[in-house]
Amino acid sequence: MALSDFPRHPLTFGPSPVHPLARLSAHLGGAQVWAKRDDCNAGLAYGGNKTRKLEYLVPDALAQGADTLVSIGGYQSNHTRQVAAVAAHLGMDCVLVQENWVPDWTDPLSTQVGNIMLSRVMGAEVRLDPAGFDIGFRDSWRQALADVEARGGTPYGIPAGASDHPLGGLGFAGWAYEVAEQERELGVFFDTIVVCTVTGSTHAGMIAGFAALEEAGGRPRRVLGIDASATLDKTRDQVSRIARSTAELIGVGRDLRDDEITVLEGWAGDVYGVPVQSTLDAIRLTGQLEGVILDPVYEGKSMAGLIDLVRNGDIGPGSTVLYAHLGGQPAINAYAGLFGTTERVAE
Ligand SMILES: *Cc1c(COP(=O)(O)O)cnc(C)c1O
Repeated sequence: MALSDFPRHPLTFGPSPVHPLARLSAHLGGAQVWAKRDDCNAGLAYGGNKTRKLEYLVPDALAQGADTLVSIGGYQSNHTRQVAAVAAHLGMDCVLVQENWVPDWTDPLSTQVGNIMLSRVMGAEVRLDPAGFDIGFRDSWRQALADVEARGGTPYGIPAGASDHPLGGLGFAGWAYEVAEQERELGVFFDTIVVCTVTGSTHAGMIAGFAALEEAGGRPRRVLGIDASATLDKTRDQVSRIARSTAELIGVGRDLRDDEITVLEGWAGDVYGVPVQSTLDAIRLTGQLEGVILDPVYEGKSMAGLIDLVRNGDIGPGSTVLYAHLGGQPAINAYAGLFGTTERVAE
């Protein structure tokens, strides 16, 4: 089997843009930093990494005759917003279980603005649930599936982040192939990839895809996952499990080495969903130097990791590093209290 053997339902615009972050690179004074922009990869409710994953789940849902997409996430889940958009686009119903994944973040806007508001706009049935953060399977999700069946519908369940699903890693295996193609066009080689990881299939798919390229004679490179879950062991396990199952699906033909599976800690803070100082600094720095917006839950944390790794030379001055921007900007609205005044951080 190869990736091209799996049906893909196009939801994105095509290859997501790749471009240098010249002012950020100059400011950090080391590696050349580029970004690949999956935050603007689609016209469906702002897109994002889950939209790319869903391209491989949708054919399965359609083949099963499903009429309702059912999924789960936090109140400000980017994933559930993208599921709502895909359901609307396909003419399907959508039921979303939105859990209280960030109980320490009590901003009353959390259940009103940003992602959850967009899901309501797009017609999804939004169910608020008091359960806390967990990337595993939940009773509330099973209940939602049962409720759809009870009313005569045919549900298709999509787990948190579209990760713990047999096809969850394929979208970002494709991302790796897309990067290789863009490198040929641009005449660059990204020796290091930096990606945020929580439910794991984004990072895992990349690992599998780059392993397949390496087997086909490509140059080896580092794929650094920056943990934003603050439940490191669960995320690390899930990344390695999905990376291995995806590698098998796309025919890598060997077991993955442990050194191919790198989830780094140090930028998540103590809990999922709550930004720390390095997150806020990374958001402001990237905004002020590049006009590129990051969110406080995911991308602000992975950019904080990139900034430190470039500054401390772990990503050396001769490196060309690709920052995977996975989306998530709507969630920043639920953190408005942190950005009530202008704070200049970049000179
Ligand atoms: C879901 C998400 C991530 C994490 O991706 P996983 O596949 O869950 O590890 C990172 N950034 C954004 C913006 C996301 O929505």
